[in-house]
Amino acid sequence: MASNFLNCRIGVTPFKYLGLPVGGNPKSVSTWEPMIDHLRNRLLSWKNKHISLGGRIVMINAVLNAIPIFYLSFMKMPTKVWKQVRRIQREFLWGGVRGGKKVSWVKWSVVCKAKKKGGLGVRDVRLVNLSLLAKWRWRLLLPGRSLWKDVLAAKYGNHILHKVDWSEFRIPSFASNWWKDICTLDKVVESKNWLVESVVRKVGNGNSTFFWSTTWVGEAPLLEVFPRLFSLSNHKNNMVVDFRDQQEEVWSWSFSWRRHLFQWELELLEHLRMVLEPVVMSLEEDMWRWKPDPDGVFSVNSAYNLLVDDLEEEDVLEEVVAVVFDQIWESPAPSKVIAFSWQLLYDRIPSRCNLEARGLLGTDVPWECVGCVGCAESSIHLFLHCPSVMMVWSDIFRWIDLVVVIPPSLISLFEVMRGSARNVKIRQGYLLIWHTTIWCIWKSRNSAIFANGLFSPKAIVEEIKVLSWKWSLARLKVSPCMFYEWTWDPGACFLR
Ligand SMILES: [Zn+2]
Repeated sequence: MASNFLNCRIGVTPFKYLGLPVGGNPKSVSTWEPMIDHLRNRLLSWKNKHISLGGRIVMINAVLNAIPIFYLSFMKMPTKVWKQVRRIQREFLWGGVRGGKKVSWVKWSVVCKAKKKGGLGVRDVRLVNLSLLAKWRWRLLLPGRSLWKDVLAAKYGNHILHKVDWSEFRIPSFASNWWKDICTLDKVVESKNWLVESVVRKVGNGNSTFFWSTTWVGEAPLLEVFPRLFSLSNHKNNMVVDFRDQQEEVWSWSFSWRRHLFQWELELLEHLRMVLEPVVMSLEEDMWRWKPDPDGVFSVNSAYNLLVDDLEEEDVLEEVVAVVFDQIWESPAPSKVIAFSWQLLYDRIPSRCNLEARGLLGTDVPWECVGCVGCAESSIHLFLHCPSVMMVWSDIFRWIDLVVVIPPSLISLFEVMRGSARNVKIRQGYLLIWHTTIWCIWKSRNSAIFANGLFSPKAIVEEIKVLSWKWSLARLKVSPCMFYEWTWDPGACFLR
């Protein structure tokens, strides 16, 4: 027996490696169950009940990282599995522990966007999975042969090594599950072939780029732009370099046709020459560039960000709004505070209007704002237009010596404060005050509703001063100032 000879045990598949079964059928949910159990145990335990939204964002990604990357690189998660994972993540993010159902305030696809695009940067496991699989497609395009490529090329054909667009390839019936998943990656985004659009050929010496069939000049392969000329060409499968004709120092494009061209075909040729005119060749090898990454090299991150955006195109933010979302995170305020501001900017906080709209406000609960009489508690009212809150803001503006007319939205207020700052340090200070004010209004509102506290503008302003001072000490890179200095002249403290 070979096992006796090698002195090793005979194993059976599936066996466990790093907690996951190897050789198990990736299409079957049971293969993935250990991983789902692990996530559920880590995230949905009672111990996590008191973690803030900011802390949960960090934890949700950390736990996801516990899924071995190699596993996600080799197997595509069945839909049923990623839906389960997503549900666990979502319940955790919005605070449901052990079956306690909570509202998912913001759409999952938005939550998964990068922070600078208005999301929370939570990783969506399905898209991580797809990005990791896409890496194989990129590696197949890279120059250089290795054993694994040779094996694949022998099994599925040489074309897999230099074609980006696989949408026309037939997947052979003998293909492995993994290979089928790799082949169907093109179709993940419905509206376009995202892989083809992300890769571009950079021609150097022209030795390894197909003149007609690769996209290397313009937005499409030349055979698509000039089908007539392609059909007449004698060199349908030649490289770019073969079309170059050099005489002494001068080089030009040269073509060979099956027959003489008609007048209208000559015009096409003229057009083709114009398209080729800007081409500059070099001594370097031709190579592929991955467009989403500035370095031109594939990264799982850039593929992920691309998929998040492409799959939810309708969620793209207006530019002004996107800038604000990008900036809210650059603040010394604690992450729970910023996460709340984020939720508020989407108007997805449990204000009474929002609860009522979701049918979650009991009939015996007062619907009125705590700061005034007779107004419904909408987010914009509670944080900006309520008379009590306007008093808070105007006290705060006087304190930081800023002249502001209350604008129609919190986004504009953020913009106004950011724009009024003379330099980076002051801007940081203003935005810290913006976050702190929002946080203190919310805290005071909650204590008024749930703990018989008083919603008093004076007290709120005092708390804003104390908290912003504490946070500036802990996190702003300025030399410390005394509390009385902070209350007296915050502008001078920002500048230290
Ligand atoms: Zn009010």
